[in-house]
Amino acid sequence: MFYVIILQILLIPPLFAEEIHIGILDWRSLENFDQHWLPSLKQIERKMPAHELVLHPMNLAELDHALEKGTLDFVITNPGHYVALSSHFDLAPIAQLQHIKEGLPLNQVGSVMLTRSERDDIQDFSDLKGLRVGAVGGDSFGGYQLMLDRLQQSFPDMNRWGVEWHFSGFPMDQLLERLLNNDVDAIILRSCLVEVMALEGKIELTHFRQVGDQVIATYPCKLSTDLYPGWPLLRTARVNDTLARQVVSVLMSSDSLMIEQDLVHWQPPVSYQSVYEVFEGLRIGPFAAFPHNPVLHWLLTHKHWLMLAGSLLFLWVLHNLRTEYIVRQRTQELEWSQQRQKLAENESHKHQEELRHASRFALMGELTAGLAHELNQPLTAIANYARGSIRYLKREDQSLEEKRRSLIDAAEQIACQADQAAAVMKNIRAFLKKEAGDYSWVQIDVVIADTLLFCHTRLSQASIHPKVILDDHLPGIYSHRIYLLQILANLVTNALDAMEEMQSEECLLEVCTYYNDDEQALIVEVKDRGKGIDPHIESHLFEPFMTTRKEGMGLGLSLSRSLAESMGGNLTLKSRLQGGAVAQLRLPLLSKKREPKH
Ligand code: ADP
Repeated sequence: MFYVIILQILLIPPLFAEEIHIGILDWRSLENFDQHWLPSLKQIERKMPAHELVLHPMNLAELDHALEKGTLDFVITNPGHYVALSSHFDLAPIAQLQHIKEGLPLNQVGSVMLTRSERDDIQDFSDLKGLRVGAVGGDSFGGYQLMLDRLQQSFPDMNRWGVEWHFSGFPMDQLLERLLNNDVDAIILRSCLVEVMALEGKIELTHFRQVGDQVIATYPCKLSTDLYPGWPLLRTARVNDTLARQVVSVLMSSDSLMIEQDLVHWQPPVSYQSVYEVFEGLRIGPFAAFPHNPVLHWLLTHKHWLMLAGSLLFLWVLHNLRTEYIVRQRTQELEWSQQRQKLAENESHKHQEELRHASRFALMGELTAGLAHELNQPLTAIANYARGSIRYLKREDQSLEEKRRSLIDAAEQIACQADQAAAVMKNIRAFLKKEAGDYSWVQIDVVIADTLLFCHTRLSQASIHPKVILDDHLPGIYSHRIYLLQILANLVTNALDAMEEMQSEECLLEVCTYYNDDEQALIVEVKDRGKGIDPHIESHLFEPFMTTRKEGMGLGLSLSRSLAESMGGNLTLKSRLQGGAVAQLRLPLLSKKREPKH
């Protein structure tokens, strides 16, 4: 009402002038009506004498109400309010007031957050957690919304900070008082307000400290947010184009006014897109109906956790790749080492085979003297039978029939002796062959007989008749004939060696076989009544080169045990209580024991 009266006094309206109703948002404003808006608007009346300006200072609700009733031609309000109104009313900015107060550009709007200068604990926005922050109100653009948008953009989780908002309404100045009284910890103000108040001598700038710096080089006021366009002059739907054009033309053509320290002039409106974006971010005004994108909101709110989870996932993938690399490397190393081991095993097997072969030669060497004798016997017999046959043929006193019978007998004996010699040779050949043959079904009785045949000469030299007790119900075993022969020949020669210095009537060599049900094994025992095992070497008997004999090599037992083990069996040698020693060869049965024959 006060402004209307002033206007009436200043401008004496012509009779029947057409009224132009302008609604103006009224607040403790930097855009002081009577000082700045009014003189500049006054030019409309001066240049359009047929019109009378009627100004209506109103609060937000009154402005809304007037627009609803359609009683206003033009509206001057803050940019936030314009954007909020634009979703309900047809409003278009047609001009903007450029207002510079002692070098401070008041036509641009931003927000600043202030705290008391001694509040060292509030350095940054993130220090606001759990604190009291004063603002004008939820619908205040420069006094709340801009700052809230800035905070939410930078800190999507700020809703969980527990900030206590204290809204104190207009005028904005009272926020500074509340801050100084320690009613709140920080306040939000429209930018340049403190600087203007300081110019007016109302406050001391040193009492306050800014929180959250936003530096724009050409902007002289404290600022914590971006800058947005200032208050627009809006035409309503009620205004016809002619009037709008006239008003715009008057405002744009009028000169800048210097009112006290303030420089004021009208200029074309700028884009309010940035203000729309603030409203969109806050989901208010025209965007209130649009729901937040919940996924995006959730992602933004939890971005720190997501980054942590992402980093952990990355580390996990890295760890897995590393583990896989190590596993592959180890597997390869293992394969190489297995290959090397296999090669070494093959090599060792080859050497063992060669050793066994050499040992058979050595054993054969021990028996060679006897062998010559062994072969000599059938050969002598053959020669004798041949000579005898010749003699029969030469004899005159025998009938042809008698000669024929004698010759047949002699020829049969010759054949028999030759077979015996051939059998000896066959055994020797097989025994000395480098390739010791393969596994086959073997009757242990036959191997024992062959062994004793082998050792026949040494037995007869020692005048020993071995006692052979065989279990004739034993099954055949799947085994290695030559290895068995080698083991048994070794055991028999060892027994003979042990009895070397004894009288033949004291000697005893016993070879027996039986089946051990518990072990499921066939046992061959070679017992002697010799000098027994030397206690010094008893625990090392099966170690290579362990011997008590002068001409011995000490390889017989160790090779025999390794042969027995290669067939899945075992070999032991113990002293007997009654004197002498007993060697036990255990051979696993690969076939079931046969039922006894009746
Ligand atoms: P070598 O017969 O060349 O000495 P062996 O490995 O066959 O090698 O025997 C090792 C040693 O075991 C013999 O020197 C002997 O002392 C002992 N030994 C083997 N058999 C008997 C046995 N039946 N009675 C007593 N000692 C034995």
